[in-house]
Amino acid sequence: AKVNYPEEFAGFAITDTKDWNKPKYITYKPKTFGENDIDIEIECCGLCGSDIMTAKGGDHGWGSITLPQVVGHEIIGKVVKIGSKVTLHKLGDRVGLGAQAFACLNCNRCHNGNEQYCANGVTTYDGKYPDGYISQGGYASHVRAHEYMCFPIPEKLQSIHAASLCCAGLTVFSPLKRYIPKNLPNNEIPKVAIVGLGGLGHLAVQFCKALGADAYVFSRTDSKKAQSFELGAKGFIATGIDGWEKEYFDQFDLILNCAIGLSGLNIDAFLSILKVEGRFCSVGLPAADEKYNVSPFTFFGNGSCLCSSALGSREEAVELFNLAAENNIVPWVETIPISEEGCETALTRAWDGDVRYRFVFTEFDKAFGT
Ligand code: NDP
Ligand code: ZN
Repeated sequence: AKVNYPEEFAGFAITDTKDWNKPKYITYKPKTFGENDIDIEIECCGLCGSDIMTAKGGDHGWGSITLPQVVGHEIIGKVVKIGSKVTLHKLGDRVGLGAQAFACLNCNRCHNGNEQYCANGVTTYDGKYPDGYISQGGYASHVRAHEYMCFPIPEKLQSIHAASLCCAGLTVFSPLKRYIPKNLPNNEIPKVAIVGLGGLGHLAVQFCKALGADAYVFSRTDSKKAQSFELGAKGFIATGIDGWEKEYFDQFDLILNCAIGLSGLNIDAFLSILKVEGRFCSVGLPAADEKYNVSPFTFFGNGSCLCSSALGSREEAVELFNLAAENNIVPWVETIPISEEGCETALTRAWDGDVRYRFVFTEFDKAFGT
């Protein structure tokens, strides 16, 4: 089918959370075009763990969603329309869009390089604009977003690789950049624990190296050991065996938790491997009904702390794309042509952990006649 752009966009949408892995082809009206908006004709889009948690909705996902819902927020494509006030992009540019489509750019947070925490921000999918329009994401022919949320992509990066950097890459780069300690005594190299080797985790390992830190992968089983070293890790620890933490007491400056679930995470054990005042930062977001189980005495033991981090800023995104281009940071991806069948295969396999380490949907021109 040929999409009837610009009146309509077309995409593959979740129509029922019970069928979270079976998106259906739909067409829909885009949001009202704003003077700072751009339209992107999509070339490829990565599959993020968040797509799955959103699609599952109230069924062990992040909670209820608006249906039909087109997910996808690791988008690369070509600018095909620009608003009258757009200054950051030109028609024909290749750009990327991550998990955020709008911020007010006028509040304290936006003014301080923290627009990812803007209280009026709108996510790329299932986010609500002031006029009530619900955003739709990147398993689609096109996406419309504020120019500020769209990133220039260095020529050196292939689109299928740049895609996953838009969400997975930025989400790990921002806390690593902010929280890896600088100037440790005796020029010690910072030690960072990366928990959960999936789409986010395998990029975190690569970014640690580029940021001058040693990454140690903590994974539930031994199955990703060899690949962890290939990615540049300094060490590998399987956390399936009770007592694994004893050997690592007081060794880590930072823990970045990239796991999508909590069942395989012993938080008390992880906190015990931190140095005094170390930080356990979680970018992983489990199902809405899961809660941390951790004793205050654990923090008492080393003055450690527990926090989360959301996405990253535009400034950090621009820095990360340049760093990736310079340091040859390349997501390990498996491409799959976008279609109802392709979406089902990729969503199912990603949820089963059967991908090393990211799916990227391709051949959008064939699916949407763009
Ligand atoms: P993946 O599925 O690619 O990777 C998740 C990893 O988590 C797996 O590879 C596995 O690692 C580990 N894992 C899976 N199940 C469990 C469990 N029950 N207990 C402990 N560990 C588990 O997901 P992504 O990398 O795409 O996403 C990771 C998380 O980050 C998701 O929750 C996602 O929603 C969230 N996210 C957060 C963002 C933010 O802004 N904070 C932005 C983007 C994503 P192993 O086999 O090595 O143990
Ligand atoms: Zn994401």
